[in-house]
Amino acid sequence: MNALAATSRNFRNAARLLGLDSKIEKSLLIPFREIKVECTIPKDDGTLVSYIGFRVQHDNARGPMKGGIRYHPEVDPDEVNALAQLMTWKTAVANIPYGGAKGGIGCTPRDLSKTELERLTRVFTQKIHDLIGIHTDVPAPDMGTNAQTMAWILDEYSKFHGHSPAVVTGKPIDLGGSLGREAATGRGVVFATEALLAEYGKSIKDLTFAIQGFGNVGSWAAKLIHERGGKIIAVSDITGAIKNPNGIDIPELSKHKETTGSLLNFDGGDAIDPNELLVHECDVLIPCALGGVLNRENAASVKAKFIVEAANHPTDPEADEILSKKGVVILPDIYANAGGVTVSYFEWVQNIQGFMWDEEKVNIELQRYMTQAFQNIKNMCKTHDCNLRMGAFTLGVNRVARATLLRGWEA
Ligand code: GLU
Repeated sequence: MNALAATSRNFRNAARLLGLDSKIEKSLLIPFREIKVECTIPKDDGTLVSYIGFRVQHDNARGPMKGGIRYHPEVDPDEVNALAQLMTWKTAVANIPYGGAKGGIGCTPRDLSKTELERLTRVFTQKIHDLIGIHTDVPAPDMGTNAQTMAWILDEYSKFHGHSPAVVTGKPIDLGGSLGREAATGRGVVFATEALLAEYGKSIKDLTFAIQGFGNVGSWAAKLIHERGGKIIAVSDITGAIKNPNGIDIPELSKHKETTGSLLNFDGGDAIDPNELLVHECDVLIPCALGGVLNRENAASVKAKFIVEAANHPTDPEADEILSKKGVVILPDIYANAGGVTVSYFEWVQNIQGFMWDEEKVNIELQRYMTQAFQNIKNMCKTHDCNLRMGAFTLGVNRVARATLLRGWEA
């Protein structure tokens, strides 16, 4: 099922559980604004190449729209739409004063040089600068983008609007970024996992983990789980996958990846087929890569007891059903990976206040937000007699619906 159909289906189920008025349901589903722009740049060899850039601003009832910008070949309007909608529910679940947005450019960043990426980012910013802003829409990194990308957006935006550090989050520290932002999504995944496991009387140190994805989110989650004594028995990324039933030495694996650019040929594990990772024997499976990786083809073969969705929409609704029948507990994306946008909020607050927090304060506040959100989701699960995904969706959708109703519709 495509990402937009899947996200909208979860939304509709939540709307039904909440008994939402059908007019509000419809208005919450339709995005506030969809932007599609042509971005043509000269390549380093002088030839011209054109890309299409998107920004979907889904909803702003609770505050400025917020969400990452993704550079990936699979970026398309439906996908960006779904991800923007997920951001609206995610910021509401985290209880931070934002709406939702997402952007992207359909490109393969590893095929572009640094100067080409800079040109592309600047052209994209020129096309959307009037539609983003500190109190309207605040971009951040996502797949294929990073702090450097945010620095270029900030610089280009500031040429039109004056120096405005709070227009993007996930910036380099030297430009007003927050301490702890780089690790925040992975750290939030770990806080969320701890909150979930505590419900079952379990802790990270007693369990085995399989992690799909070793980019920013996966590598931080792996590092922090390893530090807490969790045994990571399988890891994959775009270059391949490895396993070690005795536990992978994550700091050594990170060094290996830094020097070789790949997980393969690591002597602390054996290579496996990357598809095999998702159905590998483990207690906790953490998908940290693309959407739709758990689907009707592989869901029945999943052996994990818990799935923590560090990626956005990794589980197709069909897989959701199969997994729930098997008794697998799924911690949903709009909660599990909310640590990134939560620390983005702290960054924005620090920029507006002109006062920088130390890293300890960032991490303590992140844990407080993640723990509180889990309790709020559990309460919704009780109220509506539903699973964690619907608990999170009803929590988020209800907050957005309440804000929408309070603001009213009179022209
Ligand atoms: N791209 C991240 C997400 O999907 C972070 C968004 C943000 O910080 O605004 O949640």
